[in-house]
Amino acid sequence: MERTCYNANLSIKDVGRSVTLIGWVSKRRNLGSLLFIDLRDRSGIIQVTVKDDVKVPDVRNEYVIQVHGQVAKKDVPNPKLKTGEIEVIASKIVIINEASTTPLIIDDETDALEDIRLKYRYLDLRRPVMQEKLKIRAKIVKSTHEYLDNNDFLEVETPILTLSTPEGARDYVVPSRIHHGSFYALPQSPQLFKQLLMIGGLERYYQIARCFRDEDLRADRQPDFTQIDIETSFLDENQILNLMEGLLKKIFKDVVDYDLPLPLRRLSYEEALNRYGSDKPDTRYGIELNDVKEIVSKTSFPLFVNSMYSKAIVVPGIAEKTSRKQIDELQLEAKKFRLSSFIVLKVKDGHLEGSAAKFFNEEDGHVLIKNIGAQDNDLIIIASSNSLANVCFGLGALRSKYARELGLIKANSYDLLWVVDFPLFEKDQDSGKLSPLHHPFTRPTKETAQLLLNDPASVHASAYDIVINGYEAGGGSLRIYDQKMQKTIFEVLGLSQEDIKSKFGFFIDAFKYGTPPHGGIAFGLDRLTMILSGSDNIRDVIAFPKNLKATCPMTDAPSKIDQTQLDELGIKIVE
Ligand code: ASP
Repeated sequence: MERTCYNANLSIKDVGRSVTLIGWVSKRRNLGSLLFIDLRDRSGIIQVTVKDDVKVPDVRNEYVIQVHGQVAKKDVPNPKLKTGEIEVIASKIVIINEASTTPLIIDDETDALEDIRLKYRYLDLRRPVMQEKLKIRAKIVKSTHEYLDNNDFLEVETPILTLSTPEGARDYVVPSRIHHGSFYALPQSPQLFKQLLMIGGLERYYQIARCFRDEDLRADRQPDFTQIDIETSFLDENQILNLMEGLLKKIFKDVVDYDLPLPLRRLSYEEALNRYGSDKPDTRYGIELNDVKEIVSKTSFPLFVNSMYSKAIVVPGIAEKTSRKQIDELQLEAKKFRLSSFIVLKVKDGHLEGSAAKFFNEEDGHVLIKNIGAQDNDLIIIASSNSLANVCFGLGALRSKYARELGLIKANSYDLLWVVDFPLFEKDQDSGKLSPLHHPFTRPTKETAQLLLNDPASVHASAYDIVINGYEAGGGSLRIYDQKMQKTIFEVLGLSQEDIKSKFGFFIDAFKYGTPPHGGIAFGLDRLTMILSGSDNIRDVIAFPKNLKATCPMTDAPSKIDQTQLDELGIKIVE
């Protein structure tokens, strides 16, 4: 089809030029002697002006049209448009296709509910804000290809129909027609395959990989999502982190023109937890956690005295406006973190106030205020428990809640750091069972590996997470490459010999044929796109996402299948 260029390629330099444009009618205003059409294409909107001596067919919103005309300077520029200094004076307009009235407003601002937007996603995608996010996504992918290609990485695809991979979520499974009663699992990640590629001698692998995890959905989670999946041989942790910092630097430069200062800060898991109450801390604001065990142990409050851990945060300037009701609501939050309560104190005229203030004598109250740097009108929140994790995660959640509410987070700012030196296992508080904090192929650190059998909870992992603006944007580890060690880990995790054989036999087997030391990482492409497009909803950065009920309102997936198909698969549905 004849077309000169995209709308937004035109500028004041093109005045006088004859052009043919194609696009959708975004808006039309008929002023009698003049008709104005806002013509939208992928690049943006340009104003088309039709004078009354030109015969125009009846064009309506979202019609696809071709415009022949001449670029002219606008008398009054429109600062809202990239092409706002110019317009196209039409000489001929041709309708390419008509459009029915759309069920949602196609504009950056739309009042459509999300399920309507998802049902008519192809219309939702016409909104410039949505296209912008997909462009950012594509730029990240392009940068990634360029960087990894320049650094000798080979792009390799791995199977989608496969065996369960242990990333800790529930699998999506696909029944086999040929082998009734047997199921493929969709990969939770290409973890096993990328390690096998290292054993296969590929040395540097990557893939923009689809992963599938059947988990409860949230604003930053989808059942199928995309990872930039990477694995390398013969590199140590430092070398991998440096190489990956280079990738992030290029992505941030190419996509948002931000010069990422390197090297990135590295925070141990322990420090992240103790200072920020999170293993993915946002360090763009303060409200850090303070250890107050010593001072609160002197009070007459039994919870303080009997708990092994007590920590406090200071929320600035909100004591006066914090109501009784809000404090009661905080207590509900406490339950979520298995804490019996958060103790809330206010600072007024240099003294503690609030119902828990009575447990502090005058002097201890002053020491507390001084030690944690509280000022008048600040709120002090103390959490106590015998579980350090509960205290930290509880206060960490309040820390980010108040930062959001008080507007302490600078917009369009980036905070990147590595969290390193994780524990290898986490212990379930009820059952006491150990499970891997990352996945069971993570290598213990040299210094702690000997504790595996006698004190596994104290073993540290050669693992690292990249945290951006409080999101875990990626994570990886050095892997075990010794067959005996891998077997031991499975045993510590309580897998029977049979389980090990049936689930990972092929994998462990491969280890005996000269496995190179290897390690890797996976970045969440969706999360990176969210961060770089300033979006807090993962569904906005995926072309065709599922809703929170894990269904697709457009295709109605998942759907029932007919009896013949069920019979072929040997499946009976139990209602
Ligand atoms: N497979 C891990 C994940 O998907 C990442 C890695 O260890 O490379 O989270």
